[in-house]
Amino acid sequence: MGIQIIIDKCVGCGLCVKACPFGAVTSVNKKAVIDLHKCNLCGACVPACKFKAILLEKPQAAQAKKDLSGYKGVWVFAEQKKGKVQSVSFELVGKARELAQKLNTGVSAVLLGSNVEMGAQELIASGADNVYLVDSPELANFLDEPYTNVLVKLIQKYKPEIVLSGATIIGRSLMSRIAIKIDAGLTADCTGLDIDPDRKLLLQTRPAFGGNIMATIITPNHRPQMSTVRHKVFVQPDFEKQRKGKIIKESFPISELSSRTSLIDVIEEVENLVNLSEADIIVSGGRALGGPDNFQMLRDLAQVLGAAVGSSRAAVDAGWIPYSHQVGQTGRTVAPKLYFACGISGQIQHLVGMQSSKVIIAINKDPDAPIFKVATYGIVGDIFEIVPALTKKFKEVLKK
Ligand code: FAD
Repeated sequence: MGIQIIIDKCVGCGLCVKACPFGAVTSVNKKAVIDLHKCNLCGACVPACKFKAILLEKPQAAQAKKDLSGYKGVWVFAEQKKGKVQSVSFELVGKARELAQKLNTGVSAVLLGSNVEMGAQELIASGADNVYLVDSPELANFLDEPYTNVLVKLIQKYKPEIVLSGATIIGRSLMSRIAIKIDAGLTADCTGLDIDPDRKLLLQTRPAFGGNIMATIITPNHRPQMSTVRHKVFVQPDFEKQRKGKIIKESFPISELSSRTSLIDVIEEVENLVNLSEADIIVSGGRALGGPDNFQMLRDLAQVLGAAVGSSRAAVDAGWIPYSHQVGQTGRTVAPKLYFACGISGQIQHLVGMQSSKVIIAINKDPDAPIFKVATYGIVGDIFEIVPALTKKFKEVLKK
């Protein structure tokens, strides 16, 4: 893969200089020059050049296409800790069901651990048709090498077309290792997944260019298509206890399960952050609060409702409330039953952190604020009038 300027065609117009988001193109003696240390071959300069003076060669185009027809099914790596399947995995099984329906295929979960068969039943209850279960004492806790070996072997054997995992510390470490070993693409930290109705490709949406745009990424030439997704981006489906599925037990020789690293101890992190991710109700405030003292108004409402207090980044950046309260792309992803957005405009970086909330109530004095596009109920008005009025009314109704 390479990029070059065709000097004879370059007229030094500078359009490519403006088009490059990385400042990798400069104009020297009226000719474009690309700094290959800065260029990441994104190709933004190519269509900007009206004189076809930039040549970008991508090897995939030249390579003979791989046969992808044998890859079927949507897989979820089911992460477990102390034998308990983590809720992000159930959320992904729920999403995998939707994707599988569009592809007319099945959903499988892959569960590695020791004495974890109970978790396999829960995965079936949340929507998996099959669970590939590898139960062995060596797999009780996550270790990069054995988990990678097992997953790689299973993917090579069963050939899923999509593999999803939580964008957790474990998921991030594991999926990148697997992707390299099987020569697959990986889109990390997706905030949306869908299927292209025509090409049946996985549409993997995630923030790009420092969060300034949302990019939808496809993987047309490699399989499986692999993505990681943060906890709470998708809603966890209800368990259907009577749901039936198949548990397929796989075993591996001990040599595949050995590791050059060993786990000495697990020390639980002391949670000193506000537990926003688990709150059922969140009352969030934005720049409209105008200062730290006005957050008391939100705390009063939160107290009556038994809610946690969240905020936009604007309020955090202003120093009005600590970062641990921030909701959004660079803060927490939340999906409470009820989310109040008080004086928050609803920029995309905030929305990606809260749009899975069941009911969203937005209060904003601007009727055109983007937050109203995702709101279940919108109140156009001044937060300084509406929030205290809500607190008063909830106090009466809830007899608090
Ligand atoms: P504003 O956009 O200024 O909106 C204030 C709103 O309050 C306006 O809609 C206004 O009409 C309304 N208002 C004003 N006065 C009143 C009143 N008295 N009553 C009612 N309504 C009123 N943002 C996040 O929130 N979380 C993130 O994690 C995050 N990550 C980011 C990552 C990157 C890489 C980037 C580039 C940005 C990120 N942002 C994030 C910032 C985001 O783009 C917005 O700037 C931010 O969300 C705006 O916060 P806000 O809605 O509180 O403020």
